[in-house]
Amino acid sequence: MDKRSLPSVDRVLRSPEGAALVERHGRVPVTEALRALLDDIRAGAMPPGGLAAALAARLDVPSTLRPVFNLTGTVLHTNLGRALLAEAAIEAAVAAMREPVALELDLEAGRRGERDNHLRSLLRELTGAEDATVVNNNAAAVLIALNTLAEGREAIVSRGELIEIGGAFRMPDIMERAGVRLREVGTTNRTHARDYQAAIGPETALLLKVHPSNYRIEGFTAEVSPDQLAAIGRHLEIPLMNDLGSGTLIDLSAFGIPGEPTVREAAAAADLVTFSGDKLLGGPQAGFIVGRADLIAAINRNPLKRALRLDKIRIAALEATLRLYRDPDRLAERMPTLRLLGRPHAEIRALAERLAPGVAGRLGVPVEVVDCASQVGSGALPVESLPSAGLRLGGGDPEALAARLRALPRPVLGRIRDGAMLLDLRCLTDPEGLLAALE
Ligand SMILES: *Cc1c(COP(=O)(O)O)cnc(C)c1O
Repeated sequence: MDKRSLPSVDRVLRSPEGAALVERHGRVPVTEALRALLDDIRAGAMPPGGLAAALAARLDVPSTLRPVFNLTGTVLHTNLGRALLAEAAIEAAVAAMREPVALELDLEAGRRGERDNHLRSLLRELTGAEDATVVNNNAAAVLIALNTLAEGREAIVSRGELIEIGGAFRMPDIMERAGVRLREVGTTNRTHARDYQAAIGPETALLLKVHPSNYRIEGFTAEVSPDQLAAIGRHLEIPLMNDLGSGTLIDLSAFGIPGEPTVREAAAAADLVTFSGDKLLGGPQAGFIVGRADLIAAINRNPLKRALRLDKIRIAALEATLRLYRDPDRLAERMPTLRLLGRPHAEIRALAERLAPGVAGRLGVPVEVVDCASQVGSGALPVESLPSAGLRLGGGDPEALAARLRALPRPVLGRIRDGAMLLDLRCLTDPEGLLAALE
């Protein structure tokens, strides 16, 4: 292309290629991209392949929020959007997006209703708690609960539970923003009932227990159980709040995750329990607060509630997700997240054996089937790892290979382990799709 003979914007837009781009992207973006391209050419940057192709390349930018293959081995990957929703939840969300819904309308009485009511009775039924409310995420649940129960006063927390979770959720910072003074007790590895008892005074508004989520203290340790802590608070009328983090409505031992307390167990001891919608529960992002009706009522009266509330799409998806928990026997087939967590090693290994030649052929690198360990992720159960299998990709710099896989139209995300790229196949549900993506 010759700089001096550059066509006018108008002429390009009227050419068949230009008109096709306008049809696809709209006049304004095409004009802007074309002006910028012509400026670049005048400044000396000659695009290979001609003007029309260069213009099309500028406009055909895929969404940055596009589907990816999660072969990282972390099932609930926060950076990849955590839980995959059940079909019932997806359908409910789509319906709520497409049609008006009775979000804040009491259909029986014909009066204004509460948006949380769609979830309240289900949450009561599934957790045994007296009442429940929902907000934007669990960080918001902790924030509003602390602010409502203890603003201007003290909350007592064990030093072993002053956690930081990825993405700048630090318990001491959240407490400060909630206007609550932190009263630390015990030591990192050991906290006793007498530590809490000695710290309780006229300023104490709350006893707080926090699930350590993404780390574990092992060895010479002691902690006070929620039951004991509730008993300490009860006769002094100091409520206990238990931030479960992930939170599960069912016993997950059958899915290879033992020892995680259920929300029902936690709610039997604590006055309030907070937990996430999009971690082990397998729904959309949300934060639940369940517990004593008077405390839930106070939280609902907090003006922050309006700022942290959910929209109809997520309420619809949550309701559909919670309904599935009424039939625990069929959860594994209906909930993708639980299905992936419980996927047997033999099945993943067989998948790896089957895919290895196709992946090797398409990538042009040596591929080896290996056993590995997946993680639950999202701060849920840091230590438990789930026996899995995957493909170890050889042939040179793993960082370069990772970059190549990220650059695909449907990016493939693995992890680098022992100096090689590893694709953990636990979360691969569309093997043919993966092979097509690697073409
Ligand atoms: C994950 C987690 C949170 C934050 O929950 P989000 O739903 O990510 O906002 C808070 N507390 C604990 C203990 C957690 O594990």
